Amino acid sequence: MSSKTAWIDQEIAGLKQAGLFNVIRTIDSPMDAWVEIDGRQRLNFCANNYLGLANHPRLKAAAQKAIDAFGVGPGAVRTIAGTMGPHIELEKRLAQFKKAEACITFQSGFTANLATIPALVGKGDVIFSDELNHASIIDGCRLSRAQVVRYAHTDVDDLRRQIEATTAYGRRLIITDGVFSMDGDIAPLDKICAVAEEYDILLMVDDAHGEGVLGEGGRGIVDHFGLHGRVDVEVGTLSKAFGVVGGLVAGKQSIVDWLRQRGRPFLFSSAMTIPDVAACIESVNMLDESTELVERLWANAALFKKEMKTMGFDTGQTATPIVPVMLGEAPLAQQFSRRLFEEGVFAMSIGYPTVPRGKARIRVMNSAAHSQADLETALDAFARVGKELGVIT
Ligand SMILES: *Cc1c(COP(=O)(O)O)cnc(C)c1O
Repeated sequence: MSSKTAWIDQEIAGLKQAGLFNVIRTIDSPMDAWVEIDGRQRLNFCANNYLGLANHPRLKAAAQKAIDAFGVGPGAVRTIAGTMGPHIELEKRLAQFKKAEACITFQSGFTANLATIPALVGKGDVIFSDELNHASIIDGCRLSRAQVVRYAHTDVDDLRRQIEATTAYGRRLIITDGVFSMDGDIAPLDKICAVAEEYDILLMVDDAHGEGVLGEGGRGIVDHFGLHGRVDVEVGTLSKAFGVVGGLVAGKQSIVDWLRQRGRPFLFSSAMTIPDVAACIESVNMLDESTELVERLWANAALFKKEMKTMGFDTGQTATPIVPVMLGEAPLAQQFSRRLFEEGVFAMSIGYPTVPRGKARIRVMNSAAHSQADLETALDAFARVGKELGVIT
């Protein structure tokens, strides 16, 4: 019997057979170093909760207080129902924190990209995009209807070649991820910036995994490379290290003003909620006050990477707290993740199409929330499962 959705059932069966079907775990506790899943506490190495802020008492208190003062929802889009004080305060604080002229917030990092790219380029224009850029950049590029020219991953010479070879264009824009989330490598933004300046091309970086992680006290990739005032647009997220949810664009005042007029997710989708905004302001407060959490994150990551390499695991090209444990085929990565889970460690396997075929991995997300004992527990589990499955000897 045929039905209109039979093809979907076939696709899903195909994913399951190939070991590529996503099984989503239900978390019965706050998002923290340990989470409760299926009635048992598991050590969490999946979340982008880099600084352990997602369940921090200060953020929770700030959100609760803001609900009492401002309620919960924003009511409508900001251009129609008016913008609320806390949103403006958050944007001011983020601009100061990031040493940018101005900042605008969005519902998420994803919508920040969908807002920004089509506002800057359109039909007849050209975008030079790193071939491994995030899905939200790819979708933003598609929405813009500009021509997309992909350059080889983090390859500045290829970027230069592509620029030289592209002669028919209106406006031009270079876009790169700051930190590439599947491998943990960092874009050579200083070199890319030099090329952008040489050819007088607008430059945009999506620093979702660098926000709260890279730079002095987590000020991001522009701060990491000392490029203040030279990168036109810095997209970021409040959903990862900041521990809440939301997106941001920091950069020149004129670009931020323009996004308030032409960023479609700003104009046609409601703003971040009040508790989200208040909690984000508290995240900025905490990062302004102390670099301790950022330092602990990097120390944890350094220890984890060193021990994994000593055991003989391949941890790829990472230069950040993201640690890909390279395993090859998706079924092995899935089996590895399942065995870790049985050992009480929650670390997801990632396969095609998120990463190329044959490059499946366990992606370990380090966090300042982990204690030394937590790291040792995880490393022991990796050693046991790695030997059992013949990945290490
Ligand atoms: C996670 C991520 C996003 C999306 O951020 P959200 O706030 O979760 O929507 C965008 N770009 C990059 C590079 C990311 O890693």
